[in-house]
Amino acid sequence: MSGPRPVVLSGPSGAGKSTLLKKLLQEYGSVFGFSVSHTTRDPRPGEENGKDYFFVTREVMQRDIAAGDFIEHAEFSGNLYGTSKAAVRAVQAMNRICVLDVDLQGVRNIKKTDLWPLYICVQAPSLEVLEQRLRARNTETEESLAKRLTAAKADTESSKEPGLFDLIIVNDNLDKAYSTLKEALSEEIKKAQGTGCS
Ligand code: ADP
Ligand code: 5GP
Repeated sequence: MSGPRPVVLSGPSGAGKSTLLKKLLQEYGSVFGFSVSHTTRDPRPGEENGKDYFFVTREVMQRDIAAGDFIEHAEFSGNLYGTSKAAVRAVQAMNRICVLDVDLQGVRNIKKTDLWPLYICVQAPSLEVLEQRLRARNTETEESLAKRLTAAKADTESSKEPGLFDLIIVNDNLDKAYSTLKEALSEEIKKAQGTGCS
């Protein structure tokens, strides 16, 4: 395969995936395309349907999963999340590098497909910092925060499994983490720019 590879960003909720992705899209808007996932969770203030997620009911999502419309799906923190085939196809049709933001279950399930992405894990420097960031983001209830921290504890150890990720970025200083991400993607960015995609 000679085209640019898709990129999977994973890591605990609150580690900084969306923040890094936003910077990447700001700098290389026409090179990358975000694979818009489906979720049954409620939108946060400022989130747009069709841009951040497709916000759907569990009934609709379960129906579409059963119909074979999803590459992968997972239950996270009491909600369903999933990557539809159409979401990835839409980005690839524009000849852009497809970026997916998925949890660890998503990583393992994507490994069973032929998508062949680069797997990058974003971690906060510690669980304490992760909790501070999640609290400061002010998007979670105490219940949802607790579930996310429990998932983070379980996933942080599993993420170290040899060969699971191509790269683990510790997002302590944001600019440094962003430079590391850009460096890791530089070959793919060059390839995408070389194919003359707009
Ligand atoms: P994720 O998408 O992984 O759930 P976010 O990108 O929403 O995480 O980041 C969680 C919170 O932490 C946000 O409020 C964001 O502004 C903040 N944040 C991200 N990276 C850093 C950093 N390096 N230093 C301090 N705060 C950060
Ligand atoms: P959030 O609710 O904070 O937006 O996302 C919660 C978790 O769900 C994050 O770990 C995020 O990576 C993950 N996630 C988002 N979209 C998908 C998806 O399509 N599939 C899977 N497996 N996880 C997802």
